[in-house]
Amino acid sequence: MNLTKHKIAFVFPIYNEEGNIGPLYDAVIETTAPLLAEYELEFVFVNDGSKDTSLEKLIALRQEDARVTVLSLSRNFGHQMAVTAGLDHADADAVIIMDSDLQDPPRVALELVARWEAGADVVYAQRRSRQDTLFKRATAHAFYWTLQKLASIDIPRNTGDFRLLDRRVVLEMRKYREHHRFLRGMVSHLGFRQEAVLFDRDARHSGTTGYPLKKMIQFALDGILGFSTVPLQLISRLGVVLSVFAFIGILYVVGVKLFVPQTAVSGWAFVTVAIFLMGGIQMIMLGVLGSYVGRTYVETQRRPLYALGLSLTSAHEDSKPVEKVPALSELVGASR
Ligand code: UDP
Ligand code: MG
Repeated sequence: MNLTKHKIAFVFPIYNEEGNIGPLYDAVIETTAPLLAEYELEFVFVNDGSKDTSLEKLIALRQEDARVTVLSLSRNFGHQMAVTAGLDHADADAVIIMDSDLQDPPRVALELVARWEAGADVVYAQRRSRQDTLFKRATAHAFYWTLQKLASIDIPRNTGDFRLLDRRVVLEMRKYREHHRFLRGMVSHLGFRQEAVLFDRDARHSGTTGYPLKKMIQFALDGILGFSTVPLQLISRLGVVLSVFAFIGILYVVGVKLFVPQTAVSGWAFVTVAIFLMGGIQMIMLGVLGSYVGRTYVETQRRPLYALGLSLTSAHEDSKPVEKVPALSELVGASR
């Protein structure tokens, strides 16, 4: 029998959300009430350099409710960093990441927990529909399409950072220390048992988006460049295509020179052939450089090489299986 309750932590990144903190807290408290019988809850709010009264609001919440943790970054580091700080500090059996503008409906968190209880390690909330502007939806669609085509791993579409991560996954996530962060890609990269829950995304409750176009483009680049070196390989491919054209061009030039020399300007053949050939060779060589740069880049990301899902080692006293709450509790027949 497990006497201590399992703990679930919520991570809320906060950037200028003064109008949302109160309603968010109330909604989360209300919807998570059924969980209290079985779980201990923690609410980790990460203030990401807000310029409004968000921090004061959070401190006031903390004074009322000791389950509230407030982390405040020293300036605006961006959404992904704020969530990272939350993941680094949340000490729980499962962590739920949620936006703080009530676009991610708190009731969906219950479904995430249910799927986790059923054995999933990552439960991501996938948007069935969203209330954003046509522009945002169109750009998001284009982005996910490109990402799917280019990325070396499968990153689910229409999925934000709204998700539940088992403790094991959180511990692995902490090993990813790259600066240009694309968390949802990192979670996909990790593996483990991942499941989706569909939901309808609401409109922002109050305030304005913290993702203007500039940040959105940067974020999209972090996603694509962080998980793909395909653009570098494209250089080589382009070089090969150019070289093939160059070869055809060379045949043409030589043909003209041999069979209809009267139409050729003197010196023309040599110059043309040289341009074609050099262009092709340079592109291929750039691509070769690109391949090395790509590898260097991947090495400098210093990602963990692999993550263990299970380890059943020989029965040393000190050998511990990788902690996996559902599997263990299944083994001992206890419920969580
Ligand atoms: N956010 C943040 N730092 C930022 C921008 C946004 O912590 O620099 C938070 C924000 O408070 C919200 C979440 O990230 O909880 C998602 O941001 P937002 O709702 O503005 O993005 P959108 O839903 O418009 O894509
Ligand atoms: Mg939002």
